[in-house]
Amino acid sequence: MATIRHESRIFIGKVRRLFAVHFRKGYVARQLRVRQGDCLQCGTCCHFSLACPMLTRDHLCRVYGKCRPKACRVFPIDQKDINDVARCGGVCGYGFDAPAATKKGG
Ligand code: SF4
Repeated sequence: MATIRHESRIFIGKVRRLFAVHFRKGYVARQLRVRQGDCLQCGTCCHFSLACPMLTRDHLCRVYGKCRPKACRVFPIDQKDINDVARCGGVCGYGFDAPAATKKGG
């Protein structure tokens, strides 16, 4: 059963990603360069808190390759996102071996 703490963490992750794709574009670009692996299409990130309304009955993304939101296209941005997947019982196919070089104001 999801706890308030769990739901809060997942919600904070959503807000953090939304903020990052709009206001921390440099950070997101650097993270994507060091990201490894592939999407396993497990759909865990599509079911954070509530299932995405863009999912079909077969749990496929209705807007994949068309107008998928940027926060979805770049998921996962960093290890915090991978941890959110694990919190929800999933295993993301992506990983981050080494932290991207950080730059102030990124
Ligand atoms: S959790 Fe990771 S592997 Fe699963 S659908 Fe999302 S990006 Fe792909």
